[in-house]
Amino acid sequence: MTTASCAFCRIIARESPAQIEYEDEAVLAFTDIYPKAAIHILIVPKRHIASVATMGEEDRELIGHCLLAAQRLGQAKGFAERGYKVNLNCGPEGGQVVYHVHFHFLAGGRRA
Ligand code: 5GP
Ligand code: ZN
Repeated sequence: MTTASCAFCRIIARESPAQIEYEDEAVLAFTDIYPKAAIHILIVPKRHIASVATMGEEDRELIGHCLLAAQRLGQAKGFAERGYKVNLNCGPEGGQVVYHVHFHFLAGGRRA
């Protein structure tokens, strides 16, 4: 997988626009282009991992890093107490459309 052929790698490389909500050395988080909740942010590792189905032991820490980014977003957006969903889709029947692993951070109720 090259940067050119992955929509999220292009966002990470700043070759495509996105509303960035959080960034650190390993993770980028940006608003979903078709939000399904009042707040719908995608959390992606900067290193390309296609899917949970293909991740390896070397990705263990990076995936945990994504979840700590979700915790920070929860705090930053004022949802630490109220709560939020952190969803991950895997494979065709799991509803995965973009094959760069990502967590959906969903807060504030479902959007019509
Ligand atoms: P999946 O179904 O793979 O778990 O989720 C992919 C998500 O990425 C969808 O919610 C979709 O709206 C979002 N998405 C797809 N392409 C782009 C894009 O280019 N920019 C942004 N911000 N979101 C995208
Ligand atoms: Zn990618």
